Amino acid sequence: MLFLRECEDAAREASRRGVPLGVIALSIGEGDEARLWTPLDAAIFDTVSQKLRERLRPGCFSSQFGSTIFIVLPGTGEEETAAFGRRLVERGLDLYLDGTPMELSASAGAATVVAWSDASRDLRDAFSRAVAALHLAWRRGSASFTMHSIAFDRQRRRENCIGRAIANALHRGEFTLNYQPIVDVIESRVVAVEALMRWKHPSLGGLMPDEFVPLAERLGYARGLDEYALTAALVDFPALRDALGDVKLHVNISPEQLWLPAAAQTLLAIVASSKIDPGDIVLEVTESARVEPLDGLVATLERLRCAGVRIAIDDLGAGFNSFQFFANITSDVVKIDRTVVPLDRTDERRKAMLDGVMRVCSALRLDQIVEGVETREQHELVLAAGGRLAQGFRYGFPVAPELIAGLYPQGKVQLAR
Ligand code: C2E
Ligand code: CA
Ligand code: CA
Repeated sequence: MLFLRECEDAAREASRRGVPLGVIALSIGEGDEARLWTPLDAAIFDTVSQKLRERLRPGCFSSQFGSTIFIVLPGTGEEETAAFGRRLVERGLDLYLDGTPMELSASAGAATVVAWSDASRDLRDAFSRAVAALHLAWRRGSASFTMHSIAFDRQRRRENCIGRAIANALHRGEFTLNYQPIVDVIESRVVAVEALMRWKHPSLGGLMPDEFVPLAERLGYARGLDEYALTAALVDFPALRDALGDVKLHVNISPEQLWLPAAAQTLLAIVASSKIDPGDIVLEVTESARVEPLDGLVATLERLRCAGVRIAIDDLGAGFNSFQFFANITSDVVKIDRTVVPLDRTDERRKAMLDGVMRVCSALRLDQIVEGVETREQHELVLAAGGRLAQGFRYGFPVAPELIAGLYPQGKVQLAR
């Protein structure tokens, strides 16, 4: 569709220049009802389009999809977009059909976006936010206008700010690693540590990976972040081993772009330069909605395994991690997500789920680590299910590497009663 193609070109150009894109979703109805669902009569639509064309400056577009008219205003900030949308609904379009004034009313919703790496996706995102705002406006009554929620836009601005800072943070070394023990629950002993990234952002303060990792992935920094984490973890590892004894090192790697043929090579080069035995390293990978192509990812993981690095499937049972992914990836370890762990001993459903998942993993001869064990009761349930390895606040929180030796003398876990 030409309109979409033109908008995408405009979004790309805007993204190249770092300027925002205003998007307005407009619904027009006859009388005092701005209809959301019924497509406009063709004659009315032509008149509206003509009027809009006169109002829009060059480089701006409008088109109708179903009953909604989309207007895209490249290079237009939040305030200007809001002002334009408000004018449309309050003053109307001043339309005449065959010389007679048309009694039309409009509702509009608007959103702005500073397009990032994927201008087409960001454009679609802005369309859907504008439509969400239109629905809100429409519910308020005709001739209303809503800008997509300020809180949402604040969140967007925060994301933009964080996104822009990632490259610099990698360069300046603002990321650090905390370590959380993975425990043999029968012997109460640390058998491995998982490196978990933290970011001390100069103005936003401490940031957690749940916020910045998905952004890094979206913006194409996933490989850089992983290489950073692996390098730093390998530097910390000898001291952690001195403190804990014979433990393994778990590092998370993003599935994003892991299919690239160079991905395994780069990770293996980092391992090789550390003089740490690849067999002591477990790389944890989760499924993501965007793992494409799967055979490329499988090839990378195979290359890593051939070099002796162990692979863990992370978060099995959580939203994204489907059995389809599990069926296609050969791994050595499986981490069973906390959503499968029973909340307490009355939680029969999760008890059955944990039991079932553990059986599948045992049949595949995979080491199993139960994640998210928080309470003594859950700990006992893991033991009762035949689990041996677990991780969770019950055994220890992620902490800075220098605290590990004091918390787990010679790798011993002291459990509070
Ligand atoms: P994950 O790999 O599943 O890591 C475990 C997360 O669960 C950690 O959150 C940890 O603090 C939290 N956790 C541990 N025990 C418990 C518990 O008993 N209860 C609850 N409710 N939570 C527990 P964190 O550190 O915020 O990390 C979040 C996610 O960010 C990680 O989930 C991982 O997917 C990602 N991540 C962290 N570091 C890195 C990294 O260096 N690279 C990449 N690619 N992703 C990372
Ligand atoms: Ca993990
Ligand atoms: Ca996990």
